[in-house]
Amino acid sequence: MSITSQAEIVPVDPTSAVPLSPIPETPLEELGQLVAASRAAFAGEWPRNGRLRASALLTWADAVERDAPALVEQLIRETGKIRREAEAEVRGALDSLRYNAGLARYVGGRAGHLPDGSIAHLQREPIGPTLFITPWNWPVLLLLRDLAPALAAGVTAVVKPAPQTSAVTARLLELAQDAVPEGVLTLAFGGATAGQRLLQHPEIAGVAFTGSSATGRAIAQTAAGAFKRTLLELGGKGASVVFADADVETAVRASVRAAMTTSGQMCMACTRLLLEKRAARRAREVAVETLRSLRIGDPRDPETDLGPLISESHRARVLEYVGLARQDARVLTGGTPVAPDGLAGWFLSPCLVGDVAPSSPLVQDEIFGPVLTLEEFSDEGAAIRLANATPYGLATAVWTQEPQRAWRVAENIRAGTIWVNGHGGSFAEMPSGGYGESGVGRTRGIEGVEQFTELKHINWAPSRPMQPV
Ligand code: NAP
Repeated sequence: MSITSQAEIVPVDPTSAVPLSPIPETPLEELGQLVAASRAAFAGEWPRNGRLRASALLTWADAVERDAPALVEQLIRETGKIRREAEAEVRGALDSLRYNAGLARYVGGRAGHLPDGSIAHLQREPIGPTLFITPWNWPVLLLLRDLAPALAAGVTAVVKPAPQTSAVTARLLELAQDAVPEGVLTLAFGGATAGQRLLQHPEIAGVAFTGSSATGRAIAQTAAGAFKRTLLELGGKGASVVFADADVETAVRASVRAAMTTSGQMCMACTRLLLEKRAARRAREVAVETLRSLRIGDPRDPETDLGPLISESHRARVLEYVGLARQDARVLTGGTPVAPDGLAGWFLSPCLVGDVAPSSPLVQDEIFGPVLTLEEFSDEGAAIRLANATPYGLATAVWTQEPQRAWRVAENIRAGTIWVNGHGGSFAEMPSGGYGESGVGRTRGIEGVEQFTELKHINWAPSRPMQPV
């Protein structure tokens, strides 16, 4: 993907390496108009009428459902993700719209008498026009994961997608045009400069950012300068912790497949496999077998398990980590560029790394590729220490048949989501987000709606002073 001198974005199909249709960047001097439209819509009926918002979200969902096959094709074209994932992404996005349509009609707040006789009334108000900056890897689901609750809360939105996924985002927002009032949703095409310019606009009240921790830090710094509300959904380096009492084969197969979601380019893909020593040997064999059984190929083919990486430069970056693994650890399988079916895109065979030190960048960094590391632990305490030994805290899986152990481990691991004897689920109903460098704030669930509100206390003084008791 490149941004040309004519200020055009030229995404590239990662499967074929063929450039896709160019998209004109939004001129920087026009960004203010988008914010003004968002501000005008925020002054209208939208933030005050929950029924209007619920109906808009449901109408948008129906349009997305009708258009799902085209959205799936566009997602595959722009991201190289496999068909099953593209379909799951659109289904998840639909679910987010429909779940939050219900919440749009929820009238929250609390009321009561205070000891001085005054009446306390608590109400939630939408924060105002909000900027949404999204990454390329799950662009439809991740946008609606945050945007649907925000719209339910009553904010208006300016959306700045990752340049690579501009077209699919444009299509998604076009489907809302008949559903939402003018100005409620506006779209800007561009890169980091556009994102920063929008964020600095004084009428932007908050930002919902999903992307890398490094970019999240830059966003947080800009937002802090003007005390803007921030939701930061950032990188991850999750672990699957497998105890010897678990059904080890099932646990390892599921963990390996989950780690390879979107060829490992997934924040919640747990790309560290932590194995209790007693089960490590068999687990390692199952991990190797499972990785070798995955079918790399054209993501359009329903039988494909692994598509390409997003770009040549990203594959080169992942290959540097594989090089490090060959030098400082042990590559047990994979890690080689491949060209399945003669495709010219950026494919890489899934890689398993053993004999790796917990302090290695292979364990500490988010590689964002099909590279899974194996580490061993001797007891529960060591498992918890290892799982907590990176700066990230997004998601972790625990596999054991002992319920008490599952609770203890889950309670001691610092991550926003813990799966027990399962892997990968995320739900519109339940808040998700990160500890540490994985983020700030929570999206999804009722908390996801509240994230986009200010809480106000209106206090009615007593009609006559209270008598001292
Ligand atoms: P990224 O490089 O951080 O980019 C994310 C978005 O931010 C893009 O739209 C990008 O535009 C924009 N951007 C970059 N620098 C910016 C700046 N200084 N100011 C304002 N905007 C800026 O992330 P990515 O490579 O697209 O996505 C991969 C990352 O996202 C991984 O770290 C992954 O873990 C994380 N992620 C997290 C979650 C979650 O829910 N926690 C979900 C999915 C992905 P440009 O592309 O033009 O730079």
